[in-house]
Amino acid sequence: MIDLKKADQHQITFLNDAYQNKKIAHAYLFVDPIQESGIATAYWLACRFMCTGEKKPDGQCNNCQRILSGNHPDVFLVKLDGKQSLSIEQIRPLKAELAKSPVEGTHRFFIIENAEKLTLAANNALLNLLEEPVAPVVTILVTNNESKILPTVRSRTQILHFEEEVQDNRALELLEYGLSNEEIADLTNSEKLEQETKYLYQEIKEKDNFALVRVHHLAENKSSAEQKFILFILKKLALTDLEQDLTRQSAARILDLLVHCDQMRASNVSFRNCLDYLVLKY
Ligand SMILES: [Zn+2]
Repeated sequence: MIDLKKADQHQITFLNDAYQNKKIAHAYLFVDPIQESGIATAYWLACRFMCTGEKKPDGQCNNCQRILSGNHPDVFLVKLDGKQSLSIEQIRPLKAELAKSPVEGTHRFFIIENAEKLTLAANNALLNLLEEPVAPVVTILVTNNESKILPTVRSRTQILHFEEEVQDNRALELLEYGLSNEEIADLTNSEKLEQETKYLYQEIKEKDNFALVRVHHLAENKSSAEQKFILFILKKLALTDLEQDLTRQSAARILDLLVHCDQMRASNVSFRNCLDYLVLKY
């Protein structure tokens, strides 16, 4: 389920204006270092078009709910699904969809996550798609790396940059979490670290044995700032899960253990032992 609260406030104000003035582009490139906010913003736009509630989008009505849970016939998401790249086979169906009219609303939405991973063939297929005149389709490419998007594709999109706001928000969150400004500046590889921490969290939840292997890798040679960052991300993920019925219990358990990890770190237990404790206790 996509969480509309993660949509970027600055960008949705901009898109809302465009919507009200009938100036929505037929293709966007959302450049977002973490992509999460870009994806939520793309879904926000689809909901803005199709919401039947009073305050659009409310995220609550039947249309919004179906869009956000990936069950709306006019909203398509192309994503990696564990693969290394986005292939032409994943783009071709969109081309077929382009010829059809929207099933329910006035527009269809093609959302492409990790657009930097499109293969050359997929890029070319996409190019065709973007050249198609006036079909009622909004294509939204979301990427963390603008330079990896083919210039010919880029030039056919309206580009929105998310990074400043996202990074500012993140920096604020980290300050609140207790990192100093120096420590935040030291986090040069936070994107990769965050990704790996997300994998670890998933593995812990699934009681995957690989979690212990990852812990050993993740705990290796980490500065105090990086350790705090890893714990920060784990807590953030657990807090998100806490809001969902299905994951509430496991999230509460993980949060409990994370509080213990903090105490262990404070009494100079090695970071690796703290994370081992988390995985093994869970
Ligand atoms: Zn709605």
